[in-house]
Amino acid sequence: MSKMIIVTAPSGAGKTTIVKHLLEVFPDLSFSISATTRQPRPHEKNGKEYYFISNDEFTRKIENEEFIEYEQVYENQYYGTLHSEVDRVWQEGKSIIFDIDVKGALNLKHLYGSNALSIFIKPPSFEILKERLKNRKTENKTSLSKRIKKAQFELTFQDKFDKVLVNDVLENSFKEAENLVRSFLV
Ligand code: ADP
Ligand code: 5GP
Repeated sequence: MSKMIIVTAPSGAGKTTIVKHLLEVFPDLSFSISATTRQPRPHEKNGKEYYFISNDEFTRKIENEEFIEYEQVYENQYYGTLHSEVDRVWQEGKSIIFDIDVKGALNLKHLYGSNALSIFIKPPSFEILKERLKNRKTENKTSLSKRIKKAQFELTFQDKFDKVLVNDVLENSFKEAENLVRSFLV
């Protein structure tokens, strides 16, 4: 089994930014593209950040047991990791990197054990997390408050992961993440 990197964090802590960086630095890493029912953000493309699918299609995939794990991360917004996606990356002979919510990350770590490195990205403070989410300008008032509420809860799980990375100065976080991944992949 090839190795897996599981990156998790409360929304807005910076996991997408850090995962993107790791994908640039490590050509042998490949991103697990999840399926989701949420609407694409303006820059997002189907089949790149996510497979954007309808609620009906998501339900059909649940019934067909196409998911390794899935969660209703936010009200009426489903996200899931597809078996076909993990198979695709393994066939490429690469290691796989997941960007996934806290509950999903715990499930995957449980499933893959020592083949997986789980990293929790932590914001320097709750205030900074709120600021980053607002500045990203991807959320409306309702979705912003849902994410902030959930973030508070998710922060209580940090001790359950192999490594905790405090994302304060981005350049330092990039280096720290690179070091963690490098030592795990050797
Ligand atoms: P997540 O994927 O965890 O929801 P993002 O990677 O989208 O988080 O980051 C949330 C916002 O914070 C983005 O606008 C991103 O550019 C910004 N950001 C990420 N890391 C830092 C950092 N270390 N310092 C300042 N801003 C950051
Ligand atoms: P966003 O809407 O900001 O892209 O993602 C919201 C949350 O869903 C993030 O915490 C992200 O990591 C998580 N997520 C993305 N894909 C999956 C997945 O396949 N399974 C689970 N459980 N969570 C996911």
